Parts: sequence; C-alpha cells; structure tokens
Amino acid sequence: MIQVGKWRVDIVSGGRFLHDGGVLFGIVPKSIWQNVQPADDQNLVPLAMNCVLARNDTHCVLIDTGHGSKLSPLDRKSHGLFPGWPLLDELSALGVSPEQVDHVVLSHLHWDHSGGATSKVNGAVIPTFPSAQFVVNRQEWADATSGQVERSGGYVSADFLPLEEAGQLRLVDHLEEIVPGIQVLQTGGHTLGHQAVLIESNGKGLIYLGDIGPTSHHIRKLWCTSYDLDLIRTREVKKQLFDFAAQNSYSVIWNHDLDIPISQIALHPKREYLVQTEIL
Ligand SMILES: [Zn+2]
Repeated sequence: MIQVGKWRVDIVSGGRFLHDGGVLFGIVPKSIWQNVQPADDQNLVPLAMNCVLARNDTHCVLIDTGHGSKLSPLDRKSHGLFPGWPLLDELSALGVSPEQVDHVVLSHLHWDHSGGATSKVNGAVIPTFPSAQFVVNRQEWADATSGQVERSGGYVSADFLPLEEAGQLRLVDHLEEIVPGIQVLQTGGHTLGHQAVLIESNGKGLIYLGDIGPTSHHIRKLWCTSYDLDLIRTREVKKQLFDFAAQNSYSVIWNHDLDIPISQIALHPKREYLVQTEIL
C-alpha cells in the first residue's frame, strides 16, 4: 500500500499473460528491445495487468479490471493467460468485497482492461461490481460500440454492453472529476478515447497511464506499441504526462509491467526520462 495524500492506494492484479514482444515495442527492432525485455523462443514476453484500488474515508475506486473470468479455454490459450483471474481474491485479501467498490474507471475498453467489468453468473453476463458506476470515455464508448470493423480490434461487447443495460454506465469527457481528488485525462493515442487517471491529494499525486505507458521500458520517447491507433499522439501525450509527473514528483503506474508496476520519473539534464523506483 502507498499513501497518496488521503488516498490509500494498492496495486492489484487483473491477470498475467504472455504477449508478442514485437507488438509490445512497435517499430523498435528486437535486437534492441530484447536487451531490456528478454523473450522466449516464441518471441513472447510475460506481462501483468496491474489495476489500482484507491480508497479514502468515502470512496472505493478501482481502475481497470484485467481480463476477467468469461474467456473460453481456447481464448485463454490464444491470449497466453496464466490460470485464474486474481482480482477478486486480491480485493478480498484487502478486505474489499465487489459490493464495496463504488466506481470502476476503465482506461479504455480493450479486453485486457475491461474484461473483468462483467462476469457470467448462471448464464447471464452482469456487472462484476453491483454497486459501482463504470466510468468510460464518451469517444471510447462510441468507437467500441460503432460496429466498424476498422475500430473493432480488441473490443468484446460482452465486457461493456451489460454495464449500460444495468444502468451503471457513466460516460465522461476530458478532465472530468470522478470523485473529489480523482479525474480522468483523455489522452487519445492508444485508442482515440483512451483515458489516463489522475489521483491527487495534499500535494501528492499518482497517474495511471493506461496503455500510454504499458511498461517502464516505454519511458523511451519513441517506444510505443503496435496497437496505438495514433502513434504521434501517443508520443506527444506521453511527453506531457512524463513532464507533469517529473515536475510534481508524482508516481506513475506501468499497467503491464511485471517488475516495476509503479515508479516515479526523473528528467535527466539531457532531456532523457529516467525510471526512478524509489517512491517519494
Ligand atoms: Zn493493455
């Protein structure tokens, strides 16, 4: 647990998986990325799905959910998932039941972030957190539900349509406050409606980067995933977020990083960003 002002913040696992290293690092040649992230003989690298639980005296907010429990054995195999779905057990170990979560903020609606938002119970797919508002960017919702083949990659409608049917969907825009001290920042880049999440209290802060910074290796200015729909935007917004984090000594969450889920960012005199694992 780390303290961000009045917020108690825990990193909880939404799952682990093996993923193609080339896709993870986009245009970066393997001869370079393998020096920092070794791959197996299938070119796969192990990744996390780091979610965040932020609690204060009033609110219990979850950011992203990991892959959830609905995937078929075949889909689990093709996605390289590790067994089970650890999120609910990890919340339980912190003394948090699904009913106690009052907000679930989804960075975007790709399956590895929103899959746990819904669960299959007696054949019906329903929200996993029965009392929560699910916070989704308006543009992201429009794109994920558009039915356009060009935009459909990574979206599974059973992960998010039941949220609307249950009346638990809250669509938001850039800079909207979710609860006092937590706001969303529409970044674009990875998807047009991708949002980062900013937690601030008493001069302390934490930024959930989502897939703008999937691993700490993506601290390098030009390293982005092949999934990014707007590569230039990802690079622009990454710089803005890193500068903001460095200037304010705010922590950042690397949501797919197994080894360094959270760090701070320092700015080297040569304008290079550095991962600073000691949290102030
Ligand atoms: Zn992702």
